[in-house]
Amino acid sequence: MKPQDILEAAKSLRKKYAVTDGDAFLLQNCNPNETSGLPGIKKGDSKEILEESVQMMAELQDMLYAQDHWSILLIFQAMDAAGKDGVIKHVMSGINPQGCEVHSFKAPSTEELDHDFLWRSMRRLPARGMIGIFNRSYYEEVLVVRVHPEILQSQKIPPELVGKNIFEKRQADIRQMEEFLGRNGTVVRKFFLNVSKAEQKKRFLERIDTPEKNWKFSAADVKERQCWDQYMEAYESMIQTTSSKESPWHVIPADNKWYMRIAVSGIIIDTLASLNLQYPKVDEKRLAQLKEVRATLMAEKE
Ligand code: ATP
Ligand code: MG
Repeated sequence: MKPQDILEAAKSLRKKYAVTDGDAFLLQNCNPNETSGLPGIKKGDSKEILEESVQMMAELQDMLYAQDHWSILLIFQAMDAAGKDGVIKHVMSGINPQGCEVHSFKAPSTEELDHDFLWRSMRRLPARGMIGIFNRSYYEEVLVVRVHPEILQSQKIPPELVGKNIFEKRQADIRQMEEFLGRNGTVVRKFFLNVSKAEQKKRFLERIDTPEKNWKFSAADVKERQCWDQYMEAYESMIQTTSSKESPWHVIPADNKWYMRIAVSGIIIDTLASLNLQYPKVDEKRLAQLKEVRATLMAEKE
């Protein structure tokens, strides 16, 4: 594909999967198994396309880093075995490690529980010029905690502040926090890797039946699977209330890993391309200085 074609494909993938206004969003309208965002493209083409997009992403990231104005925060949320780790590995494989940070958020530590629910994430936000990736995030606070509200007790919040609407309030707080980030140069892009319940079962069975994949299997994941419907309700509510033009959710069909990876990398490329990134301009004074140093180097004897 030519660079222009990649950019156009990236734009149409973004348009297809971005939720910029959550009011009318329904998860039932999103098919985890479709691969229709790039007509004519099949699984066999995916390796080449992914390599080309990784290359383009690396070029854009180099400018992001050099310009040092914007930060990019990419958030990945999904049910277990949807392929978060694989997406992060593949999509970021060509990027300069110095310009990128990945943080995985697991159940909070004692120290983390001694603070508000955003604290641990705020400490990990990407600096200017950087791409930050959150593998799970503060959104767990309206997902796993909503599905298992007994977790709230471990959070040591003053009891009179734990009302019936606590999750709606958290969603509102997250929305405002992301607005604040946007106004300060952090571009937030969120991905829900939408795997079907049937495909998750297939992948769990694979993890059990393939010795090299045994380490990935966790009985706890199967337990969470029992709460599938509650999770879907929580995801839907999260997407409805925290999608905006500035920090959209992208609901990516995840039953076909090759397609999911292309879709995610396309949306990241479109995000970077929309920033009009440029290498910093060198002024006259600096140009003269460079010329002078060049002359000194050339005059060296050896
Ligand atoms: P993998 O299984 O691929 O290694 P993972 O992200 O599933 O990756 P795990 O250690 O299996 O990692 O799971 C992390 C667990 O931590 C998840 O069940 C998640 O819901 C939970 N978790 C994350 N954030 C919070 C939170 N704020 N409060 C409670 N539980 C959380
Ligand atoms: Mg897990």
